Amino acid sequence: MTANEVQDMLQKSEALLTGHFELSSGLHANKYIQCAKVLQYPARAARLGEIAAQCWQEDIDVVIGPATGGIVFSYVTAAALEVRSIFSERKSGQMELRRGFSLQPGERVLVVEDVVTTGGSVKEVLRLLEQYNVDIIGITSIIDRSGGKVDFSYDFKPLLELKVSAIPATDCKQCQAGLALQKPGSKELL
Ligand SMILES: [Zn+2]
Repeated sequence: MTANEVQDMLQKSEALLTGHFELSSGLHANKYIQCAKVLQYPARAARLGEIAAQCWQEDIDVVIGPATGGIVFSYVTAAALEVRSIFSERKSGQMELRRGFSLQPGERVLVVEDVVTTGGSVKEVLRLLEQYNVDIIGITSIIDRSGGKVDFSYDFKPLLELKVSAIPATDCKQCQAGLALQKPGSKELL
């Protein structure tokens, strides 16, 4: 039921579209995901935060997400948990805590991200957290489109799992059917 509610919110916000899209990789896909489009609505963002908070029975002291995709989702999840929210960001390619954010050893930390594709950004956050000797409770993303392939070595509870077909243009049935191609042109594109 929860996954249905999340999918419904994404579709109403046009954060999840079905159609004929060209990816930055050049592959053609049948879905488009842009979580910023659902998070622009505060009530929907807050509801996603509530659902994320309900995934976890463990005590949590702080929620962290990687900039920029994880910032708003971290904030709304932390608001639902009534704990603090921070974000990490890259400086010279290295994931860091900046802006005076800090973590104390033993703090119980939940990691969040908007969309997990390869899990690269989340893994960078996990390596960062391990340096602080905190207690990593787990990871939640709004969408997991890894096809169950990603392994974080910590508990991972996405709100919605999506299968996306991405194929070369030469094999694309939508091209063969003459359907117009859309190029949203975003890094967050599938
Ligand atoms: Zn195509």
